[in-house]
Amino acid sequence: MTPIRLHNTKTRRKELFTPLNADNVRVYVCGPTVYDRAHLGNARPVIVFDMLFRMLRHVYGATHVTYARNLTDVDDKINARAAETGRDIRAITDETIAWYHADMAALGNLKPTHEPRATDWIGAMKDMIARLIASGHAYAAEGHVLFSVASYAEYGALSGRSVEDMLAGARVEVAPYKRDPMDFVLWKPSSGNEPGWDSDWGFGRPGWHIECSAMSYELLTESFDIHGGGIDLQFPHHENEIAQSACAHPHGKFAQVWMHNEMLQVEGRKMSKSLGNFFTVRDLLDQGVPGEVIRFVMLSTHYSKPMDWTERKRAEAEATLRKWRGLIAGADVSEDVSEDVVAALADDLNTPLAITRLHAMATQLAASGGKNCHFEARVFLASARMMGLLTDELGDWMSKQDDAVSAEVSARIDALIAARRAARADKDFAEADRLRAILDGAGVVVIDRPDETSWSAGPGFDAGKLEP
Ligand code: AMP
Ligand code: ZN
Repeated sequence: MTPIRLHNTKTRRKELFTPLNADNVRVYVCGPTVYDRAHLGNARPVIVFDMLFRMLRHVYGATHVTYARNLTDVDDKINARAAETGRDIRAITDETIAWYHADMAALGNLKPTHEPRATDWIGAMKDMIARLIASGHAYAAEGHVLFSVASYAEYGALSGRSVEDMLAGARVEVAPYKRDPMDFVLWKPSSGNEPGWDSDWGFGRPGWHIECSAMSYELLTESFDIHGGGIDLQFPHHENEIAQSACAHPHGKFAQVWMHNEMLQVEGRKMSKSLGNFFTVRDLLDQGVPGEVIRFVMLSTHYSKPMDWTERKRAEAEATLRKWRGLIAGADVSEDVSEDVVAALADDLNTPLAITRLHAMATQLAASGGKNCHFEARVFLASARMMGLLTDELGDWMSKQDDAVSAEVSARIDALIAARRAARADKDFAEADRLRAILDGAGVVVIDRPDETSWSAGPGFDAGKLEP
């Protein structure tokens, strides 16, 4: 069996992964709060942990991996959206969940085994809160139930920070009903128009953190293998999940391995509405950026590094996928996946290395000019598909684009690129630059690599500007 190594945030080391039960490897990932379209950053953990799911399925067998990712459908941001729009909460969350499913499928992600909705598991949350009160880890006060952070000595172990440091860095709410400012809410009262449920502590609703502890317990038991999420969730959300679960089920281990993805930026800057560089996955898809291209760009950066979304990366990914899809046209898929690709993925999800290895296979395939390469094409295809690339479902973008860029226009672009290459070979750099400016002006994205030049039609492409 392929050895798997994963960087564990909790121990701050890369460790050999040994599942608690190889017949049922269990993964929990924090999912979205459903009140609006997923932005491009929200797609990153989905793609990262989809890749983990796929790799584990490959190694342990597809039926031996259980992946749970929750849907937070009770939250103050949702209540605020309902108040703003005058719409029903359930209408908002149902609509947002349907969008989320469509958008994540368009990026080639598999459906998790379980997608628990928080509002379906209120009973399990109340049970866990009752256990925490009974064991002295939580207390009720003024319609609230609070977790007593001082009752759990290991609080902060995941982020490796002291309670004092965390307190200094966080916006903890000081409230009269808290014994200690660090204490966090397990249950809070709801007023008339807020969603709520009856409980021993009055009519109210759960705090945010308890849902992940309760639902992972119900679906994966008190000890499971991997817990994932964005690095922004490490504190307080994940520290609080650990505290709740460890205290409610002291004999359990909760999650053995913690994995955190870094954040996504756009052209080197934080994505934010005020900087005007904020966009949703749907915005990109509607602009004609194929889901497969978005996935490829995301996988090109290791999950532990900040990922920068750039127009150049988009264009390069599109050109690469166009070439790869050309290479596998007509090939059927083999059972065998390249061991080199699997080994890269098993090494802490090294997706950039896996892509480099796919590039090497593609180069070899192209060099053999289609001769005697039937086997290689099949293995190449199987390996790419293991990463959720070159699948049939994600493949219709090329024909759509080909319809937009006619064969005649495409030939004109090829001719301009060939002329530019000839000019460079003759050291006529003025002419090469002039031809390049024509291509740029028409919105053709030219990608120069040492061995070849490729292109894609960028946003605002205008064939009318292609005259030499
Ligand atoms: P939320 O719906 O705000 O709870 O976020 C859902 C997920 O998106 C969480 O796992 C976050 O870590 C993740 N996330 C939010 N913004 C970004 C970003 N800019 N880059 C990567 N992940 C993000
Ligand atoms: Zn969570």
